[in-house]
Amino acid sequence: MTKDSLRDDTTSPPDGLPSDVPLRILVVDDDEDARRALVSGLRSIGYEGRSAADGLEAWEMLEREPADVILADWRMPRMDGIELCRRTRASGRGYTYFMFVTSYADREHLLAGLEAGADAYQTKPVDLDELATRLGVARRVISAHRRLVAENAALRVDSQRAHADARVDALTQVPNRLSLEEALRVSWSHAKRYGHRYSLAICDIDNFKAFNDRHGHLVGDEVLRQVAATVRYTLRDGDSLFRYGGEEFVVVLPEQLLADAVIAVERIRSAVEGLEVAGVGGAITISFGVAELDPTQDDSPEDCLRRADAALYRAKAEGRNRVATDRPPGS
Ligand SMILES: [Mg+2]
Repeated sequence: MTKDSLRDDTTSPPDGLPSDVPLRILVVDDDEDARRALVSGLRSIGYEGRSAADGLEAWEMLEREPADVILADWRMPRMDGIELCRRTRASGRGYTYFMFVTSYADREHLLAGLEAGADAYQTKPVDLDELATRLGVARRVISAHRRLVAENAALRVDSQRAHADARVDALTQVPNRLSLEEALRVSWSHAKRYGHRYSLAICDIDNFKAFNDRHGHLVGDEVLRQVAATVRYTLRDGDSLFRYGGEEFVVVLPEQLLADAVIAVERIRSAVEGLEVAGVGGAITISFGVAELDPTQDDSPEDCLRRADAALYRAKAEGRNRVATDRPPGS
């Protein structure tokens, strides 16, 4: 940690209002003498301020450059202090510390001012000690508000990241089973609405358990990563890969009849067959079970996955490194 960052940490919270950043102050009063007196009073206690002659002029200035603190008179032509206060509160800009500086010393005005959204209320003539203290409070309020806004933004980013992380398999970096379930829900409603068909393929690495037992889990993990990368690389646009669990992956092939899907996964199977992974002596191969989903029949993604899984079982039984379907393609 550098000396500077250490100082920043102790003097001001991150994303708050650092103590060396001046407050942007706007003085609003239709009485020119009062306005000047307040600006020079501010200067005598170490603050600079802009000024406006009424609420409307102040509002126009604020639209060009916001203020941290507004010190406003009550009665002014065109737009009075109460209206300026209400507009400031409704503006949705960053927090502005709003303080009335008025000759109305009665309780009714004080309460009405706070009711309109003011943070503080000071009567003329201005007591500069009190004003200096108020501005210290203003800095704390603004700083806390900015910190909160920054923390909320960071939380939103964190939660978006967590949402994405929860849907990606950490080992292979392909979308996981949760992501598959969401994708199937979407394609299912799409398929039903438009009568589109699609195919699902389950893929399993042949003899994976033997790799793990013989070469250890690190090599097994590398096999999973490389198979996933190869399948992903070989997919056609629009097709997507998911890690289903263990050494099983699912490929979703939208708008593809069984015969087309078989051609697509046959190409993937053949690409994996050429794969060489360091530490693995023999060839790595995969088997596929493919099924087509028919939204016009009493079918569902779950049933389709079950049929693909049964076909996969047959591909394994018939000797592995092959593609099997739940029914003859083209039938
Ligand atoms: Mg006035």
